Amino acid sequence: MKDLLTTDFRNAPWWWEAAPLTESAGGTLAPSYDAVIVGSGYTGLRAALTLARAGRSVAVFDKERPGFGASRRNAGFLGRTLKWPYIDLKATKGTTHATAIYRDLSMAYESTLAFIEEEGIACHAVRCGRLIAATSAAHYAVLERELDGMKADLGLPYWMVPRARLREEMATDLYDGGAVIPDLGSLHPGLYHHGLMTRALDAGVAIFGRCEVTTIGQAGQPGRFRITAAAGETRARDVVIATNGYTPPHFAWHARRVIPFVGYMAATEPLPPALLEKQLPHRRTVIDSNLDIDFFRPAPDSPRLLFGGATANGLQDPVAIATLLHGRLRRALPDLADVRLSHVWTGQCAGTFDMMPHIGCHDGIWYGMGYNYAGVPMGSLFGLKIAQKILGLPEGTTAFEQAPFPTLPLYRGNPWFLPLAMRYFAWKDKRLARSRPAA
Ligand SMILES: Cc1cc2nc3c(=O)[nH]c(=O)nc-3n(C[C@H](O)[C@H](O)[C@H](O)COP(=O)(O)OP(=O)(O)OC[C@H]3O[C@@H](n4cnc5c(N)ncnc54)[C@H](O)[C@@H]3O)c2cc1C
Repeated sequence: MKDLLTTDFRNAPWWWEAAPLTESAGGTLAPSYDAVIVGSGYTGLRAALTLARAGRSVAVFDKERPGFGASRRNAGFLGRTLKWPYIDLKATKGTTHATAIYRDLSMAYESTLAFIEEEGIACHAVRCGRLIAATSAAHYAVLERELDGMKADLGLPYWMVPRARLREEMATDLYDGGAVIPDLGSLHPGLYHHGLMTRALDAGVAIFGRCEVTTIGQAGQPGRFRITAAAGETRARDVVIATNGYTPPHFAWHARRVIPFVGYMAATEPLPPALLEKQLPHRRTVIDSNLDIDFFRPAPDSPRLLFGGATANGLQDPVAIATLLHGRLRRALPDLADVRLSHVWTGQCAGTFDMMPHIGCHDGIWYGMGYNYAGVPMGSLFGLKIAQKILGLPEGTTAFEQAPFPTLPLYRGNPWFLPLAMRYFAWKDKRLARSRPAA
């Protein structure tokens, strides 16, 4: 193998090339706002924009520069699935609940694309389709059963790709075939966030970057809050916590309910167009069928491959991360064995104990978080729904608010058990792979 990294290698998201983080001072802090939002990702900004356009005064605070969180770091896969496959949710919670959840997932997906189109946000949003690559024959059979159940109950399209035809989708022999979901999408997460942020600023939202919120307390009058941030103190009638995988320990109730974990990604150097086209001829997003996923996609704005995996492995050193990810790349796409990496980055995601995203109001404070790797559509939807709830609009309801937000005794937000959980997921993946596919 040649050198692993390009000479201009950056330990930063590829997305920041087109959508670099910027400072945002927010102006003079007002003594009070109608709404204060903590966190400037998709959740916080979508809520802020909706409220501002309804005439509310809104301030958004971020501990770092706006967009520093996962919203400018993710893979840009736009889907409508959860870690809970539809047929498992149906078997456990019943058809009514499962269809209501999956209908709202479809709403998150469709409404995000519709919003991008209506707003004219240039972020390469496309319905490119997704290949789910089966890591064994048994995975292939489970995948087919899941997708068949979703097609029967929800009318969602798919087709199976047997191993013998997999090279029509991806230049690999690693997988035991897969399935294509033709209408799923992708976007450039940095440009999507940038578009959301410029629209929020245009609507009059004050965005305070590098301005950590340290306390949120009752302000004496019922329904009013006192917020202490690095820029000073202010008050608000409504407060939204939109910190997902970056939720700090001092938001103790929320920190006890989300499980922060690190996601890893890399970008290759520019590839000869024919080589890139051979890897993913239909330019679909690709995810494998494991619980501990590997994922691949073409960059929308450069002839590069973007990919990720090895979630929550604990590595921090960029060269060590690059080495690990490159191994995954070579295993899946051997044609790219000598390709160098130009960018490697990480970002914080948030899991939950029931593997479901959560939206709601605790002690008068609104929250939306725990997206389990589906925050592009779900963060966008929950931001909108929270704003609609604050505005008293009936369309703010969602099937996701019905479940309590669980925690575990003694859990305080430090996921010491993550390495064990990832080992358990890997064991489950292998156990399924070794099993005989059901007839
Ligand atoms: C590598 C990676 C790949 C992913 N791929 C996908 C994908 O392909 N598709 C998908 O749907 N999802 C994906 N996700 C998940 C998705 O990116 C997130 O779920 C989503 O961006 C969360 O948005 P958010 O607005 O809730 O939070 P974030 O965008 O994470 O923003 C939270 C913000 O809160 C701020 N904050 C924290 N504490 C404070 C405080 N006390 N005061 C002020 N500010 C504070 C942080 O600085 C941060 O900027 C991925 C995530 C990662 C990391």
